[in-house]
Amino acid sequence: MTTFLVRGRHVLTMAGLAPVGERERTPGAHLEGVVGDGAVLVRDGEIIEVAAYDALRAAHPGVPVHGDGTGLVLPGLISTHTHLSEALGTGMGSELSLFEWGEEIVGPLGLVLTREDAAEGTALRAVEMLLSGVTTVNDMFCHGHLRSRASLGVVDGLTRAGMRGVVSYGAEDLPLGALVDLEPTEIIDDILAEQVDLAAHVATAPLIDFRYGVGTMLGQSDDLLAGGVELCREHGWAAHTHLAEVREELTASRSRWGHRTVDHALRIGLFERPLIAGHGVWLTESDIATFARHDVAIAHNPVANMILASGVCPVPRLRAAGVVVGIGTDGAASNDSQDMLQAVKAAALLQKLHHLDALVIDALDVLTMATIDGARALGIDHLVGSLETGKRADIVLLQDTVDVSVLHDPVSQLVYGASPRSVRDVWVDGVQVVSDHRCASVDETAQIVRCRPLMERIARASGLAATGHSVLA
Ligand SMILES: [Zn+2]
Repeated sequence: MTTFLVRGRHVLTMAGLAPVGERERTPGAHLEGVVGDGAVLVRDGEIIEVAAYDALRAAHPGVPVHGDGTGLVLPGLISTHTHLSEALGTGMGSELSLFEWGEEIVGPLGLVLTREDAAEGTALRAVEMLLSGVTTVNDMFCHGHLRSRASLGVVDGLTRAGMRGVVSYGAEDLPLGALVDLEPTEIIDDILAEQVDLAAHVATAPLIDFRYGVGTMLGQSDDLLAGGVELCREHGWAAHTHLAEVREELTASRSRWGHRTVDHALRIGLFERPLIAGHGVWLTESDIATFARHDVAIAHNPVANMILASGVCPVPRLRAAGVVVGIGTDGAASNDSQDMLQAVKAAALLQKLHHLDALVIDALDVLTMATIDGARALGIDHLVGSLETGKRADIVLLQDTVDVSVLHDPVSQLVYGASPRSVRDVWVDGVQVVSDHRCASVDETAQIVRCRPLMERIARASGLAATGHSVLA
């Protein structure tokens, strides 16, 4: 039996928060759910109690204590949208728009990715995610390397890193028709078979869930879209896709189907199962009402939206309508970082600037989105997302740095002032994966060495070295 305490000057439980719209916007209102000089008691991976440190210490005198009472303790952050398929492909095409970037960079890269690239790249980015406080990641692995079963490597990488995850294979068949020597039905059959194989592999990993992935609606043929919805009904799967990310998507959708992608997703039955959709930038009031009616959750990716100049997600309107909104980094290459603390800060800054209103969103709003609402968006809020008795012990301790030394308002300081250098310890399911500012589950230095030849190989094999996008190979 492993029992320990995690102690902080402030324990940000993210529990018992007032619903959106009923929150105060006064000084001190950030402190909802914060326990001063508190601690979390963990036993065998489960949170047993959250209370004042002195009381817990007196009741459990012999147990080890992590934290000296000067730092911040919070639930592990939940990155609700990323693509670990881009783990080894960062830094290319950052000045392109989404459609150009997909065609020039992500498409060619996806044709050469292997299961080994997926596993090693995932372990590499897991270090970056864990060091920015992420304990759960909702990943969509996008590739067009048919029959490689590359997406299964994400499960291997996350398991090695000791991270919690939800994984999907973001397949698209339309671009592949012109690129591989296979019949359209053979491509669809292989894509659907990989979904089944990925779900079976996930079933062997205790910390990982599976979702059916639809890369993009426009990237799939009508036959694949229909086949996927059928498979979700048959297996009871939840799903993960992108919706309304850029304006070009609306035009292309109207010219193909006569209506927008949100309408099409509704018509083909994609909203019948629990769905999380990345972005939700170009939305009408009717789209927002549709999401609320069908419990579609949105993964907001402010850094990726800014880097690709996609637009501004109407976060306050979505939340006011009752749509659950999480925060993601988006893919390593559409960001070009997996630093979740940066994404949380950007989520607040982008709305404030866009609305020219400093009160339109606050630090507690974005921290809620990055924790308990992220868990709700993924249907795992009974397990994680807040520090409460009975939940699994996914916990982050920030301590020891200037970033978190002045704590007049711990929530504001965390959101606007903290960086990965402040993340001292992280636990997933009660297992310590970051210890004293170093990743304990994956050796960072060794992982960089292992990944270097893989980065060089994909740069050559994809042709991205020849076109000058990569100088690595
Ligand atoms: Zn994405």
